[in-house]
Amino acid sequence: MDFGFLGGKKNKDPDQNRRKKKTIAITQNVINGLISYAKMHHPFEGILILGGERKKTEIFINNLVIPPFSVHGPFYSGFPINELPFDLNYLGTAHSHPSGSSQPSLEDLNHFYGIISIIICHPYEEEDIHAYDSQGREVLFERRN
Ligand SMILES: [Zn+2]
Repeated sequence: MDFGFLGGKKNKDPDQNRRKKKTIAITQNVINGLISYAKMHHPFEGILILGGERKKTEIFINNLVIPPFSVHGPFYSGFPINELPFDLNYLGTAHSHPSGSSQPSLEDLNHFYGIISIIICHPYEEEDIHAYDSQGREVLFERRN
C-alpha cells in the first residue's frame, strides 16, 4: 500500500522502489498445513515457524516447523525466541487467532521474529490468512505449487 500521498511527497524514482520490494510466495502445502494446524488447536492459538528461502527479490515460504518450546493457551501462544537455534532458513512465524481478528496484536508486534508474520484467523479458511511485515503492515503474497 502506498501512503506517499500523506506526506505530499512525490516519489521521484518509482522503479527503484519496485526493485527493492520483495515478492512473498507461499506454497499450497504450507497454506494447507497452516489451516489444519490452526483448526487442530482451536479454540487455542497455535504457532509455527515459517521456513524457506530469502532470495534477492523474493521471500519463498515452503516449510513449516513446529517450535520446540511452544506453549498453547487461550489468549497467547509463544515460545522463547532466544532459545531458537539460529537458522537462516527461518523466515518468521505463523500463528492462529481463534478470536477471529486478522490484525496483529501489540504483543505480536513486540514479539516479532524474523521478517514476516502470518496470522490465520478463525474460521481458518484460505482467505483468513494474512501476512505482515515487522511494522505490522499487511503484505500481499502469492500462492505457489
Ligand atoms: Zn496474535
